[in-house]
Amino acid sequence: MTPRDPASIEVEEVSKRFGHGEGAVLALDRVSLTIAGNEFFTLLGPSGCGKTTLLRMIAGFEEPSAGTIRLAGQPLDHLPPFRRPVNTVFQSYALFPHLTVAENVAFGLEMQRRPKSEIEAEVRRALAMVRLEGLAGRYPRQLSGGQQQRVALARALANRPRVLLLDEPLSALDLKLRKEMQLELKRLRAETGITFIFVTHDQEEALTMSDRIAVMDHGRVLQVGTPAEIYDRPRTRFVADFIGETNLIEAVCTGAGEGGGTRFRLAGGEELAVPDTNGIAPGTKATLAIRPERIELVDPASAAALAATVEAVVYLGTDTVYRARLADGTPVQARIQNRSGPTLDLAPGDPLGVRLVPEAVRVVAE
Ligand code: ATP
Repeated sequence: MTPRDPASIEVEEVSKRFGHGEGAVLALDRVSLTIAGNEFFTLLGPSGCGKTTLLRMIAGFEEPSAGTIRLAGQPLDHLPPFRRPVNTVFQSYALFPHLTVAENVAFGLEMQRRPKSEIEAEVRRALAMVRLEGLAGRYPRQLSGGQQQRVALARALANRPRVLLLDEPLSALDLKLRKEMQLELKRLRAETGITFIFVTHDQEEALTMSDRIAVMDHGRVLQVGTPAEIYDRPRTRFVADFIGETNLIEAVCTGAGEGGGTRFRLAGGEELAVPDTNGIAPGTKATLAIRPERIELVDPASAAALAATVEAVVYLGTDTVYRARLADGTPVQARIQNRSGPTLDLAPGDPLGVRLVPEAVRVVAE
């Protein structure tokens, strides 16, 4: 397939309200996003945050209550789904059970009354793309879950959309197949020039697959960034907590640090200076977020140490996780690689010093 011009998607100030009066639900609240052509863009968030609603509006199954969606600069307002160069792959493959694989893939093209020879060529091409050439004559019940999902993908690719919407397409597959299909989707994105918009509530899947991720909650986009930005520089407590493991430590900002940055006092009275600021004002409460792999274990007597008590030591093969509590009761966990030697000889109840690597501490908003 020769790649077409990649199509961008712009979502501008889009809101969606379902119902009226007291029972109304604001499923999307002034969402703005720009998705580049041929980008692998993921909408990530918990159940009910509005991911599917946004996808359905890009597809044209729902109309925004306010705002505009543009494809390659052209507003999509009031354009019915079949007039949009957009296709969707759903979690439930939604294949027709009484049609063969080839007939399922051909279905949309038949509806468009395309010439028979052209349809045959497009079906062959689409099945080759998902590596199902040999199974064209089978019925869906004769296929594994992974193969059925490939048929659904082929069907979505058959009429050469410019944007492919993927609504949790892998969540019904077992882990091994899932990993395989993740690679497959990445390959298809690169080969086709199509813009992929992927919906998931699985943060690991989002991190491994995406060029960029939008983290959503309660109908809002909280942060957009590359996987590394989202993981390393979460700007809100929700984003820090939703993506990966994190330690959240309450503190009060006591002023500006030397040479930029900010100083904090923790609940146990310890002072900490970090380069990050996130616009925090002195005298206000803050939450500090730090990943377990950025906490060091140090001698409890050292000046850099926060005093803690070990609660559990969990050996994970490559790493060991040390769960502990600070003097004020805040739980912290440190994840230490085991390559540097055997697991530290620590048992529940032992005193422990923990050091938060200042460069890795993020000041996160509520
Ligand atoms: P999930 O991961 O569970 O699919 P989601 O993030 O995709 O969740 P949406 O399906 O977009 O969330 O739903 C967002 C909110 O809008 C929810 O509160 C949902 O109940 C509500 N909602 C969605 N569709 C409708 C509808 N047709 N009528 C009324 N409320 C709706």
